This record gives sequence, structure tokens and C-alpha cells, in this order.
Amino acid sequence: MRLILFGAPGSGKGTQAKLAGQELGIPHVSTGDILRQSVKDGNPLGLKARAFMDSGALVPDDLILDMIGGRLGRPDAAAGFLLDGFPRTVAQAEGLEALLSGLGLEIDAVISLEVDPEELIRRLTARRLCPKCGAIFNLAFQPPKTEGVCDACGAPLEQRADDQRATVENRLRVYQQQTSPVMDFYRTRGLLKPVDGSRSPEEVYRSFQAALPKS
Ligand SMILES: [Zn+2]
Repeated sequence: MRLILFGAPGSGKGTQAKLAGQELGIPHVSTGDILRQSVKDGNPLGLKARAFMDSGALVPDDLILDMIGGRLGRPDAAAGFLLDGFPRTVAQAEGLEALLSGLGLEIDAVISLEVDPEELIRRLTARRLCPKCGAIFNLAFQPPKTEGVCDACGAPLEQRADDQRATVENRLRVYQQQTSPVMDFYRTRGLLKPVDGSRSPEEVYRSFQAALPKS
């Protein structure tokens, strides 16, 4: 099963990727992880990528595709994979299609976790941080025992600038603008499978499974 997973920040994408990887026995291939690992290992692709990152430039598509090609060629990906964080643009989607087609492979389904923007904002703005000891709380999922106070050290909790509503709204807008052409690319190929991501992780995963093509 060769899958791509899309989901906005706060959609629960990480949780679903982990569940799917375990249940389907396929590796969770996150481009962020591949990039970080290649840079850390200092392999030739990693060194090239690092030169771009150090100069403040984006890592070019062909370099990222080479890294992904290398990762997907490893034995654990022979039976399939779950791509996360890629492709982000139509050019990358076309590059991926060409790469896979060169290997005689194709994507089986593109799962898109759909969550109402207001719910995403609610989830993303609920995070609170302890400035003293670094403990992280979430008012929705993991609230502190006493409102506004760190359980571990008693310091007053703060909201990071990144988690404030205006910043969150902006992140979601950027995500939407970037991904909608890529979604269209897969929709026209009949591969896009929207999954309601507003419910519990277990319920979402059941819909995820139901959206997969039957082999
Ligand atoms: Zn604390």
C-alpha cells in the first residue's frame, strides 16, 4: 500500500501516520525526518541540502526527490509506505509521479484529514507552556490541575506567540493555499480520499482504513 497523508496543523496527522504505520506494517516516511537525518549523517545528499539550508534557501525539489527515492528504495518500503509532508507543490507531485513510475510503482491513495478550521484553531490555541520548567499542557486534552499554573513547578503558564489565534489563523491560511493545488492534482487522478478528522483518533483511523482501496 503506497499512501500519501495530508492534514493541516492540528488535524491529528501525526497520530494517524503512527497508527497507519503500525496497522499496515509500512514505514512512515516523513520528509522532514529524512532531511534532518541526511544532514545529520552528512551523506552527499545531506551535505548538498545543508548548503542550501545554511544559505537560507529552500532545498530544491530534485534534491528532496533524490532523498525520497533513496528512502523508498530501502527494503522496508518494498511493500509500501506512507508519505507525510510531501509533496507540497504540484511540481513535487509531478516529480514524485515520475520517480515512482521509473520504479514501476504508483500511489494507491491520498488520504486527506478534513477538520473544520474553527476546530483546528480551538485545538492549536489550547497549548500552554511553563516558562520555568518547559512543561507543556493543552487546555483541551491535557489541562493543568489548577488553571493557569504549572503542575510540576507552580509557575504561571504562558501561551507562546506561535499558538496565538492570529498566528494560528495565518499558518492555516498558508497551509490551505499551498496544498489546495496539490489536492486538485490528486483529485483529478481519482486518488484523493477525504477522511473526517474531527472525531477521536480511533474513529478517524477506522474511516482512514475504510478509504483505502481493497486489494
Ligand atoms: Zn513548570
